[in-house]
Amino acid sequence: MTTETTPYVVENATCTFCGCVCDDMILTVEGNHITQAKNACVLGKAWFAEHTIEDRPFALVDGQETDTATAVEAAAQILAKARFPIVYGLSDTTCEAQRQAVAIADLVGASIDTTTSVCHGPTGIAFQGVGESTATLGEIKNRADLVIYWGGNPAESHPRHFTRYAVTPKGMFVPNGRKDRTVVLVDVRRTPSARVADIFLQVKPGADFELLWALRALVKGSRIDPAIEEITGISLETMQDLVERMKNCRYGVLFFGMGLTMTRGRHFNAGALLALTTDLNDYAHFVAKPVRGHGNVTGADNVVTWQTGYPFAVNFARGYPRFNPGEFTTVDLLGRGEADAALIIASDPASNFPKAAVEHMRHIPTIVLDPKSTYTTALARVAFTTATYGINTTGTVYRMDDIPIPLRPAFPSPYPTDEEVLTAIKKRVRELLQAKHAVA
Ligand code: SF4
Repeated sequence: MTTETTPYVVENATCTFCGCVCDDMILTVEGNHITQAKNACVLGKAWFAEHTIEDRPFALVDGQETDTATAVEAAAQILAKARFPIVYGLSDTTCEAQRQAVAIADLVGASIDTTTSVCHGPTGIAFQGVGESTATLGEIKNRADLVIYWGGNPAESHPRHFTRYAVTPKGMFVPNGRKDRTVVLVDVRRTPSARVADIFLQVKPGADFELLWALRALVKGSRIDPAIEEITGISLETMQDLVERMKNCRYGVLFFGMGLTMTRGRHFNAGALLALTTDLNDYAHFVAKPVRGHGNVTGADNVVTWQTGYPFAVNFARGYPRFNPGEFTTVDLLGRGEADAALIIASDPASNFPKAAVEHMRHIPTIVLDPKSTYTTALARVAFTTATYGINTTGTVYRMDDIPIPLRPAFPSPYPTDEEVLTAIKKRVRELLQAKHAVA
């Protein structure tokens, strides 16, 4: 724990609270506290303000305080003996730690899954089926003159998305910023984000797919049944107006959130939006981007995809990666009582998974890495306290547009990083498995 009390400033630090991963933070640090976070939004300020070094045990095994090395041995023994283990979480840690987690899953024949499976998993499925017309947020900032948000409320979930990337900033080809852009919001209810929009379309709950498909038909000049107005809650005139704007813009973007991916239709909804984007490229340059939640959930998708070919719900039991959401997604493996051990990294599934899944976690040996106490650490057989990524550790995270961003820590932590703990577990698991195979 640092005893430094003279305040100092860390420039260009990165906020890892949400998928915007803003890397222009100017942090004032006093001892083990960040006393000021210039440029951060209200969520970012709270994230930095609440992070300090708590006096927690380095590790717990069966509820008893112990050191990290003893806990590594206990965790490795559990994983080496397991027949159908799971590895889960990963959206709030560095890419370097994520790599180690994939390697452990590969070694022990586990199923590896990330929090993507409960947020933009359907988007991952749609990408594989439909493809993605994409861009960086920098390109969007410099070029987009029509910005559409579908099924999300960035004003409250990603406050700087509007001001740093897509609505108000001045860009190379939109020099007047907000004045040069038309902003559209499509959602089932009027949220604070609607105040930012020029046009708000209130679609009926569960009718996103029908609306997207109707827009595709109108883009192609097809006739559509007027009953679509009753089904979607949107008049044909409004749809036609939006289609004309989309076809006649210079550069359009469709941002979409969990209001599209976690409602009726799921990957069909995401696929319909991606297909609409493709159709629109016959008329204007159009891109689509999911608005991602956790700080490095995009990194988790990237790392798991580099290493396995698939973004989440990957199983190594046969010695090669197999992708099957519904079969190898963690919530399903736990809910059906199939997993016999769990390694949870930087995630708290016990706070939000269904009761059956949480109950099963109580009955199997669970290993958890987290900087803080959570519902999941409370039921863990082995719990490690780790340093907070971005605030105490270096490493790499991915912004929601797949841009890697380096981390500049504010102050050191006495606790090990996720990467260090996972590397040690991997090394010990390999030794245990080699010994087992040598005996066999
Ligand atoms: S928008 Fe997200 S990443 Fe940026 S400062 Fe706010 S919470 Fe942090």
